[in-house]
Amino acid sequence: MLSVAFIGLGSIGRPMAKRIAAAGFPLTVWNRTTARAEVFASEHQVRVASSAADAASAGDVVITCLSTSTDVEQVLDAGMLGGLKSSATLLDCTSGDPATSRRIATRLAAKEIGFVDAPVSGGVKGAETGTLTVMCGGAVADLERVRPVIEAFGKTIVHCGPVGAGDAVKAMNQALLALTIWGTGEALVALARLGVSADVALQVINASSGRSNASMNLFPERVLTRAFPRTFRLALMDKDARIAAQIARDEKVPAPLTQLVADLCSLAHKQLGEEADHVEAVKVIEQWAGAEIR
Ligand code: NDP
Repeated sequence: MLSVAFIGLGSIGRPMAKRIAAAGFPLTVWNRTTARAEVFASEHQVRVASSAADAASAGDVVITCLSTSTDVEQVLDAGMLGGLKSSATLLDCTSGDPATSRRIATRLAAKEIGFVDAPVSGGVKGAETGTLTVMCGGAVADLERVRPVIEAFGKTIVHCGPVGAGDAVKAMNQALLALTIWGTGEALVALARLGVSADVALQVINASSGRSNASMNLFPERVLTRAFPRTFRLALMDKDARIAAQIARDEKVPAPLTQLVADLCSLAHKQLGEEADHVEAVKVIEQWAGAEIR
């Protein structure tokens, strides 16, 4: 059985790693904030590595799930690169940027180490239930080698193309997520000002052509209840939307909506701070309008 090292026990990394342990893979974990790794290890009886390099040396498959590709490259440079076994595959589940992933893959290829960018979608719930969508970029042979591990947390596993393709698809998906959150927020705030309740508006929208995951799930569960659980940080959606806008610029594709939503996410991130959840972006629209979605 493949041995696995998991680096980055954040909101989504923890439930992914939990499923890998539950599937019986020998697992070693490492996290920058050691306390998180120690709590995880005591709950799931796995080994905590003393460093990222120590973790990497224990894995046939080494999974990173950090905030950005830059963080992955920093951890590699801080010693992890030297720890990787020559037969290993680095499976990067970070929602990363294609250019940095390509650079990392080239550096690893020089040491005969495989690389697959494999960002995920489906949120913390999807990670807990093992139903994540996993979008993969890299050589088919590398993907097939690590597929049994991905199957521990993923249900829809799609090979999108060469290295960076997974990151690119993920970024575009995230820009669409941001657009639907922002657009649905504007619609419901305007309707609130007109005296139409959000319940009534969503009843119509969710049986009509304006519906989306935002209108069907995020708004009923998180906005109308005012619960705003913190599962996916607005800071990360901001990062994702900016990657999408950058890809469009690099490819010389006019993408005014993608750029606009990236700018709006940055503005909301700046206003609401590092810990705000992505759905809390609607609070900015509410503040501008002086009306609340209820
Ligand atoms: P969190 O902010 O909860 O956790 C980030 C993790 O990365 C932590 O383990 C953190 O360590 C680690 N980290 C960040 N920077 C560094 C660094 N420079 N060196 C070492 N470790 C670092 O993020 P999530 O778990 O929510 O997200 C992880 C990735 O998955 C992101 O790319 C995100 O966009 C993506 N994602 C998240 C989803 C979600 O629902 N949360 C859904 C789909 C994708 P420490 O504990 O020390 O801070």
